[in-house]
Amino acid sequence: MKYDVIVIGAGMGGLTSAAKLAQRGIKVLLLEKDPHIGGTSHVFKRRGYTFPMGPMSFGYPNKVKQFLNEMGIVQKIDFYRSHFQLISPLLDILYSAPFPELKRQLKKAFPLEDKIDPFFTRFEEIISFVKDVPSRHQDYLKSDRIQAFSAMSSGAFLKKYFSHEHLINFLGSMGTHPPRMSLLNLALMWNVMSIEGIWFPSCGIHGMAELIKQAFLDYGGALRTGSPARKILLKNGSAEGIECGDGQVFKASWVVSNADYKSTFFELLDREEVPERFLGYLEKTPYTQSELCVYLGIDPQKVNFSAMRASHLFFRDTYDPQRTPGLEDFSHREMEICRWSDKMPGFAPADRTAMVLRIGFPYAHFARFRTGEKRRPGSYKPYKEKLAWALVRTAENILPGLSSAVEVLEAATPISYRDWGQRYQGSIAGWTWDVKNEPALGGKILVVTPVPGLLMTGIYAASELFMGGVPTAMYTGSLAADFILQN
Ligand SMILES: Cc1cc2nc3c(=O)[nH]c(=O)nc-3n(C[C@H](O)[C@H](O)[C@H](O)COP(=O)(O)OP(=O)(O)OC[C@H]3O[C@@H](n4cnc5c(N)ncnc54)[C@H](O)[C@@H]3O)c2cc1C
Repeated sequence: MKYDVIVIGAGMGGLTSAAKLAQRGIKVLLLEKDPHIGGTSHVFKRRGYTFPMGPMSFGYPNKVKQFLNEMGIVQKIDFYRSHFQLISPLLDILYSAPFPELKRQLKKAFPLEDKIDPFFTRFEEIISFVKDVPSRHQDYLKSDRIQAFSAMSSGAFLKKYFSHEHLINFLGSMGTHPPRMSLLNLALMWNVMSIEGIWFPSCGIHGMAELIKQAFLDYGGALRTGSPARKILLKNGSAEGIECGDGQVFKASWVVSNADYKSTFFELLDREEVPERFLGYLEKTPYTQSELCVYLGIDPQKVNFSAMRASHLFFRDTYDPQRTPGLEDFSHREMEICRWSDKMPGFAPADRTAMVLRIGFPYAHFARFRTGEKRRPGSYKPYKEKLAWALVRTAENILPGLSSAVEVLEAATPISYRDWGQRYQGSIAGWTWDVKNEPALGGKILVVTPVPGLLMTGIYAASELFMGGVPTAMYTGSLAADFILQN
């Protein structure tokens, strides 16, 4: 059967491309490997609780509304702001705040630092230059100034203004880590956190995915779930269709992949089909790493939440500059604690709370437990549960009573994100944010690939998460659709 476009993957990026194209009369087949749509924005249920597989909130709600409207989706969605707090041995700060409030808190915490005002004046100038990518022409991203901010270390920039390590680390990572990202990324990140805000939609992020799916079906789009693309087929070097896991072949003039770049190029294409130099770039440019995630259903009456002033708390119990903490040394590492069901009461049974604890972990640490797709040895479950409880006990240092309040506990590791999220090595947040490893992939918008007829969508189709995860996935989805409509 011949389609105009085949979209591989029904995450936010793939859904956006598919629905926008179908609305304009293009014949689209949307293939999804999982039995459900939504990709990482999917939610799953355990004993009456609903937990997120990935995103818990996102920036740029007005852009998201605009992307939905462009697909003909006009349902009323309210957005509720999510707030963020850091507690470390030297700092307790609610930082999802406008810059004047942030400055006030920082001046109080670091009274000897006298360049807080000049720093923010300069930083706001930079933010106003780099923000709002989607309303500008893509060539804007190629401008010398954007390239310069992209190549500049945020750490070097911060050190021009400040000497206190904790202040530099806080402004450079929104946490306790030394700054590693580019000045461009830092400006984008603070713009989302303080100026645009981070929000949760009244229908849930999974609810937005459902709305897009329904619109796609209403426009006559064809959706096959539980249907992995096994290979992208080329003819004379151009994409001409796909072969599914069950051997069925579908032909199309265009293929749009919502699988990430490395999965697409290393697993769905043969090496000899792609320019060697491009594969070299893909191999040497890392993705962001993965994490251990613990989902908790708790009795909130048993927990003292008085230290937690926001629904997202980044917490580091101990800070010792002389020590490089081991991966399991949780009290010396930074973790995220989220009261997830505060966002949508239906996520937990009455009088109960759903929580999510997260801490960064490299894929390599868990790779030995992946003996095949969704296959694990008997030693995996006890090991991940041991880590999960250790994380709960560390969180208990700021939320007394937490361990005894736990009624449901589930854990995901980098290999879960690999096998259930279909992310290469369980990566979470797009290409590396490390300034030293800026992707050399030929631009910042990576929707168009070196393979004619093959486009990319989703967060890996941009070198930076210009608007944060969900809106960037929708933005690249929209760009891929526009590219097809114009060519
Ligand atoms: C743990 C975690 C936390 C996150 N937190 C946030 C957050 O708080 N805020 C935020 O904005 N973003 C967050 N993100 C990023 C988030 O993933 C994106 O924001 C967004 O949901 C990604 O959409 P996407 O279109 O890029 O791809 P994905 O959601 O990855 O969807 C890709 C789809 O392609 C499918 N697929 C892959 N290969 C194939 C194949 N061969 N055949 C068929 N189908 C295939 C997959 O099954 C999947 O459905 C988080 C991600 C993770 C993993």
